[in-house]
Amino acid sequence: MPKLKSRSRSTNNSKKQTKYIFVTGGVLSGLGKGITAASIGNILKARGFSVFMQKFDQYLNVDAGTLNPAEHGEVFVTDDGGETDLDLGHYERFIDVNLSRVSSVMTGQIYRSILDKERAGYFLGKTIQVIPHVTDEVKERIKKAARESQADILITEIGGTVGDYEGTHFIEAIRQMVYDVGRENVLYIHVGFVPYLAVSEELKTKPLQNSVHDLQAMGIQPDVVICRSDYPIRNGIISKIALFAGVDPDAVIPLETVSTVYEVPLILERYNLDSFIINKFQLKVTQRKNGSWANLVARIKKPKKNKLRLALVGKYMGMKDTYLSVTEALKSAALFNDCELHIEWVDSEKLPRRGAAEALKNVDAILVPGGFGKRGIEGKILAAQYAREKKIPYLGLCLGLQIAVIEFARNVCKLKDANSMEFNPKAEHQVIYVMPEQEKKLLKREYGGSMRLGAWQCILKPGTKAQAAYGTDKISERHRHRYEVNNKYRKILEAKGMVISGTTPDKQLVEIVEYADHPFFVGVQFHPEFKSRPLTPGPLFREFIKAALARSKPRKK
Ligand code: GLN
Repeated sequence: MPKLKSRSRSTNNSKKQTKYIFVTGGVLSGLGKGITAASIGNILKARGFSVFMQKFDQYLNVDAGTLNPAEHGEVFVTDDGGETDLDLGHYERFIDVNLSRVSSVMTGQIYRSILDKERAGYFLGKTIQVIPHVTDEVKERIKKAARESQADILITEIGGTVGDYEGTHFIEAIRQMVYDVGRENVLYIHVGFVPYLAVSEELKTKPLQNSVHDLQAMGIQPDVVICRSDYPIRNGIISKIALFAGVDPDAVIPLETVSTVYEVPLILERYNLDSFIINKFQLKVTQRKNGSWANLVARIKKPKKNKLRLALVGKYMGMKDTYLSVTEALKSAALFNDCELHIEWVDSEKLPRRGAAEALKNVDAILVPGGFGKRGIEGKILAAQYAREKKIPYLGLCLGLQIAVIEFARNVCKLKDANSMEFNPKAEHQVIYVMPEQEKKLLKREYGGSMRLGAWQCILKPGTKAQAAYGTDKISERHRHRYEVNNKYRKILEAKGMVISGTTPDKQLVEIVEYADHPFFVGVQFHPEFKSRPLTPGPLFREFIKAALARSKPRKK
């Protein structure tokens, strides 16, 4: 057994001693482990520490880019073009920090890099094994995140639940971390579930005890146990869990289900988890400054002055997580405008049969989010036409811009079969097409990584709604798409009244379109939802909701 000693400064290669928090889960998935991890980040940031976050996923995929959004939810995108798990969106919203590719690690990525090294002869003929090669690679990802972020505290969430066969290399790697960086620089937080048994009318702690034992059997003693539950957890139960888990009762934190996830940091603060962590790490004790977050939660819970109905016209109706960052951005924008938002989920596939007037009646705003593939396209085009003609505020995100351009080309510019190359490669007027440099990759069907990804700068045209919303001439937003507005059609679109209000600095790519004679009709080639934060909603979402409110008021009188 190696002796426990601190070798942190030499292994981290940086002057700063990062503190490492590892968050594991037990009993069930879907407990809100991501929200809990993000909330831990939030409360430590509120104590003045710089925080960076990272998620490990067990899948053998290389990244989340090729995962089906209908099964796994939204693919979140970082500034540097990482296609990641949606938990990164929670992290960014809760800690208000731009994360990067090092924040999202999937098992496939780990194996790929080991196999690439093996082929390159890096291992000098040695056998390659899970321990130490895979675990070393995992640890390197952790240290890289610490090095690159230079954060005071790095929080790494381990996806899945303890005991999963597929997750053992992660658990073993985080166990070894104490030998690499010193026990005093590592904290393990385990999040488990305490179910309620209706027959006996009691909460049962056994599953949680067992999951802690599983963790202990793998060599990890948790420092903190967070108990998720749908019911209040009495002190007696807390002591029982503390005893069985071998942790201090102060470090067993009950976390009952709450009406808004944004309340979780406040609950953790109520149980002084921030102070517990600061003491454990022997960090400088600072004052807690989370007033604006507490205020946010109070505003979320308060009745609102205004009401709004918004249609989200999409095709993944069974899996609302597909549009998670979009709905979070909308909610923040609605809160900013003191407005209770009702989102009507309109299935774009069914829309042509229902007719736009029927499907979109009584809505004050229409949003067409991003998407891939042909299914449901014609319904979205009808929704964009309806919004344009009836002067209903419209926000088109990525595909939503492309839809607006196709609609305008067909119905205003009279380019009859106008379409995107993605949906009809034989169309005469491909107003949306693939960028020439991407075409080769597409033809070879290299889907993973063949997109315009991550942050791109955009220059806004003075006097437009986009420029007014952002209040600046130059912005940066995140992208994830293959197709672009076809420059060949820019002249005719503009001649007929479509305003190109944003382009890349070299003017080669259209980034934003809008109409001057409409209260708010804006389509963007990027995804502003990824940079929207609860306390600072994305400017376009904010103005979109404002315009929708202005429209709804006279109608409701
Ligand atoms: N399918 C479109 C493209 O690839 C839009 C993508 C998106 O909405 N994210 O360009």
